[in-house]
Amino acid sequence: MKYIFVTGGVISSLGKGLTAAALGTLLEHRGLKVVIQKFDPYLNVDPGTMNPYQHGEVYVLDDGAETDLDLGHYERFTHCRLSRKNNLTSGQIYETIIAQERRGDYLGKTVQVVPHVTNEIKKRIRAVADDVGKGVLITEIGGTTGDIEGLPFLEAIRQFSLEVGHDNVFFMHVTLVPYISVAGELKTKPTQQSVAKLREIGIMPHALICRTEQPLSREVRQKISMFCNVPIEAVIEEMDVAHSIYEVPLMLQKEKLDDIVCRHLRLHQRPLKMNAWHGFVKRVIKPKYKTTIAVVGKYMDLQDAYKSIYESLTHAGAHHDCAVEVVNVDAEHIERDGAANKLKNVDGILVPGGFGDRGTEGKIAAAAYARKSKKPYLGLCLGMQIAVIDFARHVAKLSKANSTEFNVYTPHPVISLLEEQKTIQHKGASMRLGAWPCRIIKGTRTAELYRQTMISERHRHRYEFNNLYRRQFEDLGMIFSGGSPRGDLIEIVELRNHPWFIGCQFHPEFQSKPNRPHPLFRGFIGATLNARRKR
Ligand code: GLN
Repeated sequence: MKYIFVTGGVISSLGKGLTAAALGTLLEHRGLKVVIQKFDPYLNVDPGTMNPYQHGEVYVLDDGAETDLDLGHYERFTHCRLSRKNNLTSGQIYETIIAQERRGDYLGKTVQVVPHVTNEIKKRIRAVADDVGKGVLITEIGGTTGDIEGLPFLEAIRQFSLEVGHDNVFFMHVTLVPYISVAGELKTKPTQQSVAKLREIGIMPHALICRTEQPLSREVRQKISMFCNVPIEAVIEEMDVAHSIYEVPLMLQKEKLDDIVCRHLRLHQRPLKMNAWHGFVKRVIKPKYKTTIAVVGKYMDLQDAYKSIYESLTHAGAHHDCAVEVVNVDAEHIERDGAANKLKNVDGILVPGGFGDRGTEGKIAAAAYARKSKKPYLGLCLGMQIAVIDFARHVAKLSKANSTEFNVYTPHPVISLLEEQKTIQHKGASMRLGAWPCRIIKGTRTAELYRQTMISERHRHRYEFNNLYRRQFEDLGMIFSGGSPRGDLIEIVELRNHPWFIGCQFHPEFQSKPNRPHPLFRGFIGATLNARRKR
């Protein structure tokens, strides 16, 4: 087993996760088995209770773990299937250690950051490595070197490299080389200082990934190499990508990062051709067609809130050789200005997941507009519930219909709390989470798209469709095209008299991949292209 640790310097948001994932892509193209894990130094047990403004999207795994969005990059860029073991937070470590202390596991001892916290961290690296057996484990340490809360993690990986042998460990530091336009110069000092911080802890990086807006000249590389004590060929340039994040592996390959890593770790596999990846990137960058999708949500100024959705749209777009232009529409602006005003010029409407009632009336208006104007509609989780509320109010004429999430006293609770949720008090990790099987009903559009009867999709919700309304809605033209195998939970709805209108209770966006777009996204984008041609 070989280990790569990815740390970050100078500032956050350098795309460390993306860089780790891209390296994963390159190593897989050498025929290596790759697994990626992330350590997050914050004290929340998981990001599930954090607001998207704090944290961006919460990415859900098959086993129901609510994790950092970087795990989404890991799954999209490699073939690894992740579990809750792959995202460790300080909160989890302290939770474990304190439970052990109360149980009496440390009787007589003082419980300390070194060795108890660091041991727990190392245990977690080993746990994931043991599952893989043979291959490469990439571990990304969240945060920035110099953060107080990150110190135990850095100390742990330092100890770990000693234990498994320095030749089996590669330290990669992602750093910023800012361009100061008034001076017309790239500045290396912040990088020097963050590497000095790492060295202080006892970690000598083997490669520096320099995030930069301008190409690194030979002189700049030399300077970084000398001051940071890293061979010049291991000073890697990672420019801001012009078009697509899927170019990052290709960029790092040009800089020979995979060669450097493999040489150090004594991995002799030759690189394989990346034709499929190149093909995908080409279709993303230079597509023939174009379509525009309105994403109607409430975190519109935050790129990270709907990360997996945007990526899924890109994957589906590439499949159809078309650029997907996303128009971010704030649901509250629809409430203010009307749906037609905001949506008449788009080819498709997507309502993503969400919590709380701010903006819901705007989303309902968007679903109603899609239904009436016959524009393709894709509703994800809350987006499905919204479509059901619109249908109840405007087709079934239950004008006060609502979800009990937004109004507990509604006379028509068409969306209501899952039975198992009624007694739950704790907010953390208590939703219906993770992969659940779903049976697709033959003869539906959904069946056409999936081409299989049993599917598995990831969930994150507390509310569901209320079966009391099923008959009535079916008679009025709603099709229930997917549900739990026992038939008690509705998972997918369609509309009969509409070219393409689907809502699903799960999150298909967590399973879409570059050359394997999710069937629902693929179908949706295809439908918007048809709509556009007609327009
Ligand atoms: N708030 C809704 C629920 O809990 C939808 C959740 C979501 O969109 N992820 O059921």
